[in-house]
Amino acid sequence: MTDKSQLIATTHTDNTDNARTGNTILVGISACLLGDEVRFNGGHSRSKYCCGPLQDYFRFEKFCPEVAAGFGIPRATLRLTGDPLNPRMVYTREPDNDVTEQFHTGYETRLEKLGHLDGYILAKNSPSCGMERVKVFQPNSHPHDIKSAGLFAKALMARYPHLPVEEDGRLNDAHLRENFVQRVFAHHTFRQQVMAQPSVKNLLAFHSQYKYILMAHSQTEYRGLGQLLGQEHQDYPIEQLCDLYLQRFMTAISKPANRGNHYNVLLHLFGYLKPHLEGDVKQDILNTFEHYLQGYVNLATALTLLHHYLRQFGSHYVQAQRYLSPYPKALGLRNQV
Ligand code: SF4
Repeated sequence: MTDKSQLIATTHTDNTDNARTGNTILVGISACLLGDEVRFNGGHSRSKYCCGPLQDYFRFEKFCPEVAAGFGIPRATLRLTGDPLNPRMVYTREPDNDVTEQFHTGYETRLEKLGHLDGYILAKNSPSCGMERVKVFQPNSHPHDIKSAGLFAKALMARYPHLPVEEDGRLNDAHLRENFVQRVFAHHTFRQQVMAQPSVKNLLAFHSQYKYILMAHSQTEYRGLGQLLGQEHQDYPIEQLCDLYLQRFMTAISKPANRGNHYNVLLHLFGYLKPHLEGDVKQDILNTFEHYLQGYVNLATALTLLHHYLRQFGSHYVQAQRYLSPYPKALGLRNQV
């Protein structure tokens, strides 16, 4: 391995990548996305979004599994081959040179030490880091119809099934981006408020704050998780209950909420204001919600208006709802959905 390879393979957290230190939300990332020249050709895949707005809130922990496996920089290109459900890693120009075991050995120790992360951003299309749609080649060099995840990405998602994971390319989609950031902040809050001191009381407090986020994503799990913490919680030891709750919660919010579901939540929250507002003000608010439903205004517009009145008339319970503020407003994510 070259000196450069050793440096990058062993780097855990490099504060020079996190100029705005003090960030406490730790997120793993493919090293090439931060501009590290670790790609097979000695180049990088610097992500403007990750190196820009996200660095104000996330402290990134970078890792290149191919460098960690000792493949060097530059290196011959790799590809996946064989059974798409259990692919092998080989050199593109030497398909008989199977380096799967060497690759796994390179990241194994690191993988076991990622339990402190609240999210992971992976580089797309890579046979190592790609989250999905990675080609798996047949012996005739044609790709299978079935695609795979890269081998490191696959191991990461299997080892940490609740961890919010996303690809850099998908972060260009406003809905996927908003959803990923929301999941990372929710995961972080859960670890701080519940896992730091697991108890039914802390679970209930978390559930209470996230009630309307859950409602926006899944009415079924909104009710189901309420039941789990109500009648069913005595069936489980507390650690198992927390794990089950987190698994179901993260699954429920794993896809972006649609406009109709957000509209439904806006109406529920509006219900808290009805006794306090004059008729024409109520109608103005409802008209704005209707415009949001029809796509004429964004979610931030509807929520800013609602929040204005909830700050004046809302109870402590409703003002504490994470739906109103799931992550810092400065990220501007709800201006685009
Ligand atoms: S995609 Fe993954 S394996 Fe490839 S250069 Fe980036 S960090 Fe390394």
